[in-house]
Amino acid sequence: MLGRLQNQQYIYHSNQPKGEFGKTLKEIENLSRALLAKDKKLKRQQKELFKLAYSDHLTGLPNREAILDIVNEKTNSGKDLLILSILLNKTDIIIALKGHTAFDKVIVEAKERIENYLPSSAIVGRLGNNQFCVLLPSAAIDLNTIKDTCQSLQRLLNQPYVIGEEYYYLSSNIGISTKQKEIEPSLSELIYLADLAVLEKKEEIAPNLHLFHPFLLQERKKYHSLEVALRKAIESNKFHAAYQPIVSLGNNSVYLETLARWRHQGQWISPVTFIPIIEELDLMEKMTLQIAEHAARDWKDWKKRLPDISHFSVNISPSLLKKGKGDELIQLLGAVFSKYQVLPHEVCLEITENILLEDSTDQFIHHCREMGFLLAVDDFGTGYSSLSYLAKYAFDVLKIDRSLIMKIETENKQQEVAMSIVNLAKKLNLHVIAEGVETKAQLSILERMGVNAVQGYYFSKPQLFYEWDITSFDEKRKYLVH
Ligand code: C2E
Ligand code: CA
Ligand code: CA
Repeated sequence: MLGRLQNQQYIYHSNQPKGEFGKTLKEIENLSRALLAKDKKLKRQQKELFKLAYSDHLTGLPNREAILDIVNEKTNSGKDLLILSILLNKTDIIIALKGHTAFDKVIVEAKERIENYLPSSAIVGRLGNNQFCVLLPSAAIDLNTIKDTCQSLQRLLNQPYVIGEEYYYLSSNIGISTKQKEIEPSLSELIYLADLAVLEKKEEIAPNLHLFHPFLLQERKKYHSLEVALRKAIESNKFHAAYQPIVSLGNNSVYLETLARWRHQGQWISPVTFIPIIEELDLMEKMTLQIAEHAARDWKDWKKRLPDISHFSVNISPSLLKKGKGDELIQLLGAVFSKYQVLPHEVCLEITENILLEDSTDQFIHHCREMGFLLAVDDFGTGYSSLSYLAKYAFDVLKIDRSLIMKIETENKQQEVAMSIVNLAKKLNLHVIAEGVETKAQLSILERMGVNAVQGYYFSKPQLFYEWDITSFDEKRKYLVH
């Protein structure tokens, strides 16, 4: 050994240049060897990093980024795909009762059930905490086969998961997307579309099975542009107040309901469209204050126009009370009205009947009373008409919803319901308004019933202050039946 070693040493030295030069070469050789080793280590680390970044730690499945890459790769090679987005429901119960380790086990088991069922050509990924996706090559599978596959998958995922000795059950929603002629989304968009199908829960082709439809994307794009525009409108105070008259049947006197209006790209957008978005953006308080400010500013002019006018009303969104913002809102509204010298009894706040069941309503109503505002129950007869709450809170006004007034001429039942609401309201000393009165016949029936006032297109649609034709409105209310 020693001889060989020495021999090697000898050969080595004999083949290498001697002196300083030889020493440097040796150092270079050592250095390059070290570099090579480092490079290998770096490559290994890179690979690990890549794996970390592109795969889900728990299941080892490709994550969202990796799936997107795969999809893009397939797009480039011109391949079609069918994409399933699988959302597992009720996993939060497992986390709450058994903790994250149990949840992790369930996720791994769900992954195995999905993988074992699907053909090997399918690529399974984990898109989120409780969301998987499946890429199936070729979109040329017919809808029935897709439906069957998804339903079998759902049945498998519905099987119990055993944690310790207990059984837990999950359910799942599956969104399906495939290349569509109408919009031809890029394939990478398809993942988003499958997500959208499952999240929006529209186009249900079977229970909990949603097929993406192009209108979803269009709707989502429209919604997004409205969102952006509404944010801007709130920031730059672009909402308008429309006023609809409410005419007293006793003495023809009048008061107004203030309704929000918004003009976007040259068109008036209905509050039915923009109010839910305002709610979602958490901008309802700001909008309410802007509308209230318009009404407060216009109030002096209204009194000049209609000398017998007694008050105007403002709608209060149930969401604000549900979020516990009632107190803050009432203070802010108080400040707006006093800024324009509007007296509290000149303002009526309308709240919908479903809010009466909320705990936070108590305090809100108490503050309204303290400040001296009038209070109305809006849309009465649509929800769980909470009769006991009507008695509990001393409201001033009860507004019977349009849906009950609409068929009052033709349907006896509707008439009876309206009649019993009027009787009840009278017993509670409430001022009763019928909403949505469109015809003279409805007006006559309501007058006979003893309704105090009516609101509806019969007298006027809601209009902006400067659009109002007071002369024709005055003419109309002069001819009220008595
Ligand atoms: P609402 O408070 O029940 O307002 C009455 C709605 O009925 C108004 O719709 C009004 O234009 C409509 N209406 C009145 N008379 C008739 C009629 O004879 N026939 C028909 N077909 N409709 C009639 P609008 O202005 O589209 O408002 C819809 C809803 O949006 C309102 O229902 C209210 O819930 C909400 N809203 C409007 N403005 C505001 C606001 O400033 N704040 C809040 N929180 N909600 C508002
Ligand atoms: Ca209202
Ligand atoms: Ca109403």
